[in-house]
Amino acid sequence: MITTLRTEITVKEICDGFVYNELEGKGLFGLSGKLTIQPEYQRNYIYADGVRDVRVIESILKGYPLGLIYFNKPSADALEVLDGQQRITSFGRYVTGKFAIKDENGMEQYFAGIAQDKQELILNTKLLIYECEGTESEIKEWFKTINIAGVPLNNQELLNAVYSGQFVTLAKAKFSYSQNANVQKWKAYISGSVDRQAYLEQALEWVSKCTIGDYMSKHRKDDNINELETYFNTVIDWISTVFLDVESEMCGLEWGRLYEAYHKNPYSPTVVSEKIKSLYADPYVKSRRGIFEYILGGSTDSKLLDVRVYDEATKKSICAKQTAEAEKKGISNCSYCAIGHDANKTKIWKLAEMDADHVSAWSKGGATDIKNCEMLCKSHNRAKGNK
Ligand SMILES: [Zn+2]
Repeated sequence: MITTLRTEITVKEICDGFVYNELEGKGLFGLSGKLTIQPEYQRNYIYADGVRDVRVIESILKGYPLGLIYFNKPSADALEVLDGQQRITSFGRYVTGKFAIKDENGMEQYFAGIAQDKQELILNTKLLIYECEGTESEIKEWFKTINIAGVPLNNQELLNAVYSGQFVTLAKAKFSYSQNANVQKWKAYISGSVDRQAYLEQALEWVSKCTIGDYMSKHRKDDNINELETYFNTVIDWISTVFLDVESEMCGLEWGRLYEAYHKNPYSPTVVSEKIKSLYADPYVKSRRGIFEYILGGSTDSKLLDVRVYDEATKKSICAKQTAEAEKKGISNCSYCAIGHDANKTKIWKLAEMDADHVSAWSKGGATDIKNCEMLCKSHNRAKGNK
């Protein structure tokens, strides 16, 4: 790979022909049309938050270096931004009047409103740019390792860069576009940000059964995303059919896995809805996020609900009481050991060797109160299971 350091290109030259697409949230072109600011493998513009974009302009005005910028040179008269897209889009948006910064008097000032010498200072600022020429794989391998300034790329952003092509472009148009009307619905089940590729990552994870890289590599040259889209829509439809109500704990569950495991079972959405309401009202259920799989699996695996257990003080006092009674009768303080036939028949276990058990199982309506507590030796407690 050949790299050439360019030190003479100014903000003004980059901003010549600068186009920012408000809808898609990205800077598109610059350098009189020669420069592609957001090639398809780049992430969306994320500096438009009134903090990071403002900081870029303040740095220029104070004469601070903006850091290295990297361009890729795919052909003789074309350049694309490899690294520096967020910074370039920030000054491009400022110069074209898309946002304001506060001046020394605390007044909001757009580019057109600041003093001429300041305008010129910004426009004449020279940038430090490396132009890189190399094969696609060299550039991508290198791009994967630089990740220099600003917010590092996350996993999915890196995968989009590594497997860029038609498939990624189509997939991003559907899953990485925050104006998509479906995002509101998807938000109920998927956590993370559209801009940072969380929805695309989820869609790929579901269809590929967690082998995203392999899937992207295999489908890289596809001219459609039919399978990805259909699978995603099927999972979303299944969730919203089985679960009538949207609860905040549903967001970010492993829906792909749950769909695979349970979509062949029939459910009555009304019955499911009633069960959810009653488990939400149950003070012994500590994990609300587990409620959904608990119900899908036939309401048997109460481990998913992390049912509230007895506290140490209760365990200690029950143990003391059981031990006193057992010693009087000359039997074990674990009621299961006491009725056995082995050496443990008369064994007095220490508190640390015992666990609390719900006499009447929680799943059958037994409450976690002191009257329903019995201490058993650890092995009998484990054998009894079903708490
Ligand atoms: Zn026992």
